[in-house]
Amino acid sequence: MTIVRVALDVPLHRCFDYLAPDAGRAEIGCRVRVPFGRRSLIGVIVDTPAQSDYSPEQLKPIEAILNEPRLPADWFRLTEFCAAYYQAPLGEVMLSTLPAGLRRLDPPKAREPKAAKEAKELPTPTLAPELTVEQTNALAVVREAGSGFKPFLLFGVTGSGKTEVYLQLIADALKKGGQVLVLVPEINLTPQLEARVAARFPAAGLVSLHSELTEAARLRNWKAAFDGRARIVLGTRLAVFTPLPDLALIIIDEEHDPSFKQQDGMRYSARDVAVFRAHERQVPIVLGSATPSLESWANATAKEMRGRYTLLTLKERAIEQARLPSVQRIDLRKEKAEEGLSGILLEAIEKRLARGEQSLVFLNRRGYAPVLACTACGWISNCKRCAANLVLHLADKRLRCHHCGYENRVPRTCPTCGNQDIHPFGRGTQRLEEFLTERFPQARILRADRDVAKSRKQWEALVEKIHAGEADILVGTQMLAKGHDFPKLTLVGVVGADAALFAADCRAPERLFAQLMQVAGRAGRAELPGQVLIQTQYPDHPLYGAIVTHDYPAFAATQLAERKVAGFPPYSHQAMLRAEAPQMADAIAFLATARAWPEIETHPAVTLYDPVPMRMARLANLERGQLLVECASRPALQAFLTAWRPQLEGIKAPSRLRWHLEVDPLEF
Ligand code: ADP
Ligand code: ZN
Ligand code: ZN
Repeated sequence: MTIVRVALDVPLHRCFDYLAPDAGRAEIGCRVRVPFGRRSLIGVIVDTPAQSDYSPEQLKPIEAILNEPRLPADWFRLTEFCAAYYQAPLGEVMLSTLPAGLRRLDPPKAREPKAAKEAKELPTPTLAPELTVEQTNALAVVREAGSGFKPFLLFGVTGSGKTEVYLQLIADALKKGGQVLVLVPEINLTPQLEARVAARFPAAGLVSLHSELTEAARLRNWKAAFDGRARIVLGTRLAVFTPLPDLALIIIDEEHDPSFKQQDGMRYSARDVAVFRAHERQVPIVLGSATPSLESWANATAKEMRGRYTLLTLKERAIEQARLPSVQRIDLRKEKAEEGLSGILLEAIEKRLARGEQSLVFLNRRGYAPVLACTACGWISNCKRCAANLVLHLADKRLRCHHCGYENRVPRTCPTCGNQDIHPFGRGTQRLEEFLTERFPQARILRADRDVAKSRKQWEALVEKIHAGEADILVGTQMLAKGHDFPKLTLVGVVGADAALFAADCRAPERLFAQLMQVAGRAGRAELPGQVLIQTQYPDHPLYGAIVTHDYPAFAATQLAERKVAGFPPYSHQAMLRAEAPQMADAIAFLATARAWPEIETHPAVTLYDPVPMRMARLANLERGQLLVECASRPALQAFLTAWRPQLEGIKAPSRLRWHLEVDPLEF
């Protein structure tokens, strides 16, 4: 009998020893089925130690060995790194990165789809355009660096030809026999990229990996990547863990996008994990964006980071006629607005209608109105379970919480005083749509937000409609801002963006800037020049100034200067301990106990702030508190967290209290 040490998907920071028959092939990297309590679980063999802490009689035998697929050594290094860095149990990390089909006791059969069996003739690859000078220069820098680890930040406005640079680099890597990993924020919003890559490299067996695939398809694609049949893997954050034997290049498109951050379970940043992986595998990594994250921007430009990333810049749009759109601010203090839309914007829309061009009104708030209120008694529609308002959805006559999903029908009279005069306050996309329909009865108006495009299919149908010119005016949230070329779209109106200027979250301006640049980039991508109109009460705000001049570097410089003064990332490193319980007092008490750990004194570089309620203090009937940990040195922070985390597990707390530790938190 052999002792095997197995990582299991349980919330414990340890592995478990079992006995395996010698005759079997119980080797590191194999999956096994083992008894655990009264259940059977699938685990991964991480070691075959000569001895166990338990005597052989105490060890249970495994139930089965699953030899295929055998997980490779670099996958171990990657998951071990993540477990250590994010303070997560190794077994949870390992199993959560595998497709469900490999984690389950009764996996679906990974059958090849029928169509793939017939030898089909491959379509001819699309041809590359002649590169612009800027593209040529950027490529030369990457090529010169060779094949080892080197991070590049490809900074270029929307339409500057970043994707073409990716395609050229992919071609290089494929030619050398390598595999390429391409990460995108949300697959739904980037079908065009997938189609472009597939059309350029029809023989590369491109597979995609994202959470909308069926379990069987995901397993099939994972296996194609694992055994090298797929030479290009395009996926969302979870794809960063896919074993790729010949990995030669990693590309991260829209690297600033917050959806690269996982917000539950192991709270990891796929971008950061990808950089680690590129380093570990000694391959180049290209991070691309029109509005890089401040972390990446600092890595590429700040003196104190000593040029950790190499900056590649594309300043011009790739297609000669496609000028950057002209951006203007509309001063709402001076302009009268009708249902929130200024005369200037309405006129501009009218002009587009007359010319047969498309307009987009961008409002990043879905629903009809953010709140329903009674003017007589002051009642407002708030969620009983959250510290948040219920949003009015008139399309289906519901009040809905956007945080916990609670919903209710719309009351006819005030629930508190019976007053019949209850009003929606503020506006969302539905209300704008309603107003525009009245105002422009001749126009075809299409709303695009998560309420109308719930699935990928619905979203694709919507995009197709817009492409086919079946809409004159689009009303949409940030869904519309990402990754789409709408050749007839020449006007973008931005409304209701001011709120994000003064949000408590220090990353709110960065996100607003990225969103506005992205949505502005939708205007005038082909022959037709584009115009962007931003309605604001604060026309002199420097953020809008930087949008007008398309000047990300200036914006980033002011943001980084503020962060430096405040000692915020990237000038410090952070972790957040969060606790939630039915009573806030319990959550705070837990955090206070955590903070009172006496050995904190042995970590003088680390600062622990006071426990405070979270900005949204209550979510789904749980009250939430947090404790911020900050440190100038990443290794010192890691050392502290590694010592502190086991202490947290020993804290006595009410049974309904839950806590987690998040490293490099994005949201506050
Ligand atoms: P980005 O990824 O930066 O938004 P794209 O690579 O999608 O930019 O390029 C924008 C548009 O310009 C696309 O329609 C693309 O086909 C075109 N394009 C890119 N590079 C060139 C080039 N060198 N010559 C002509 N057209 C180009
Ligand atoms: Zn009332
Ligand atoms: Zn709620």
